[in-house]
Amino acid sequence: MYKNLILLGSTGSIGTQSLDVVRKYGINVVALSAHKNVKLLEEQIKEFKPEYICITDIETANNFEEKAKELGVELFKGSEGTQKLAQLDGYNDIVVLNAIVGIAGLKATLAAIESGKDVALANKESLVTGGKLVMEAVKRNNVKLLPVDSEHSAIFQCLQDKNSAPSLKKILLTASGGPFFGYTTQQLAEVTKEQALKHPNWSMGSKITIDSATLMNKGLELIEAVWLFDVEPKDIQIVVHRQSIIHSMVEYSDNSVIAQLGTPDMRIPIQYSLTYPQRMESNAAGLDFFAVKDFTFAPADDDTFLCLKAAKEAIAKGGLYPCAVNGANERAVELFLNDKISFLDIGKAVYGVLERFDFKDEYTIEDVFNADKMAREYVDSIFNI
Ligand code: NDP
Ligand code: MG
Repeated sequence: MYKNLILLGSTGSIGTQSLDVVRKYGINVVALSAHKNVKLLEEQIKEFKPEYICITDIETANNFEEKAKELGVELFKGSEGTQKLAQLDGYNDIVVLNAIVGIAGLKATLAAIESGKDVALANKESLVTGGKLVMEAVKRNNVKLLPVDSEHSAIFQCLQDKNSAPSLKKILLTASGGPFFGYTTQQLAEVTKEQALKHPNWSMGSKITIDSATLMNKGLELIEAVWLFDVEPKDIQIVVHRQSIIHSMVEYSDNSVIAQLGTPDMRIPIQYSLTYPQRMESNAAGLDFFAVKDFTFAPADDDTFLCLKAAKEAIAKGGLYPCAVNGANERAVELFLNDKISFLDIGKAVYGVLERFDFKDEYTIEDVFNADKMAREYVDSIFNI
């Protein structure tokens, strides 16, 4: 188990659940970051006594300066601040858990890796937007990249027998199907924001909840798995499993399938990323098989859910196409949450961006942020914003 933790995005759904694990095991919190929610951040500072904090929204950070002095913590500001936290020196046995939402987490992931720290990654957008840069940095710095996303934690656990790795046939990435499983395009035209924000099995931040309703989340996870496990997109099959009990599976060449199961509680994969390779007692409930009534499997409908289709095509094309679909999605979800566009418009924007730009296979960090910007501008242009 890691002794020291830098937790980025501590006020979010993953952030607060991570602190629940930290509370149980008394891991030392070196630093915390939030964007705007200083009320919760202040409570966390009082309880976990970090030495450093970062507030990424500059105005909120400026207003918090006096308070930070009073609380005796050093305050960093802005997105550069999260990179400085990720690069803090002087601690052994330390991990950076990145639970920031969106491409806003990418530079901090890279900064942590470049400073030689292991990273527990919830921020899947780091791998979707800059997967090549992240994985090259992991190799160069010889650090661990531990998945927090439940499906990827499951796959990671199913792949632990390194001797059988060469005979891996495929990854079966499970999906809940979200609140609109089985809906037709016509039915999707009618859905509201409130319906989209109600996930059947998981309680999560608003952006990933919408991503789960559009199936963009599964598309992002497919791309995340390609990078994490070094597999071809064609060797990952998406399986809709409505109950979210099997968190993913792997199939070997002898047709043996290994699955990881558990209650849908993110504290299980979060804890495993912090205690790996040890398994320790958890606050999450155990799985009662007799309480599980149905156990179902179905294909995902990517003709209807265009975000998933776009993500599949983007990773097949390579280069910065995944970054572009991610940027279009981040902007479209923001517009949807602000009642500016409809549910189906999200898919239209994300699929549309694929045809719009030409990207090479090689790219730099500047290229990543340019592609993201172009994708967001494209979305605004099609909706006249
Ligand atoms: P939340 O929206 O609940 O939390 C996001 C966190 O990031 C908050 O601490 C927020 O601060 C901070 N933040 C928001 N905007 C910025 C920004 N521009 N720069 C820096 N920090 C920012 O998200 P989740 O916890 O649901 O998700 C976090 C990540 O984990 C996402 O990448 C998601 O895909 C992934 N994930 C989440 C799962 C879940 O169950 N929630 C499951 C698997 C993966 P503030 O609160 O102050 O706004
Ligand atoms: Mg997931």
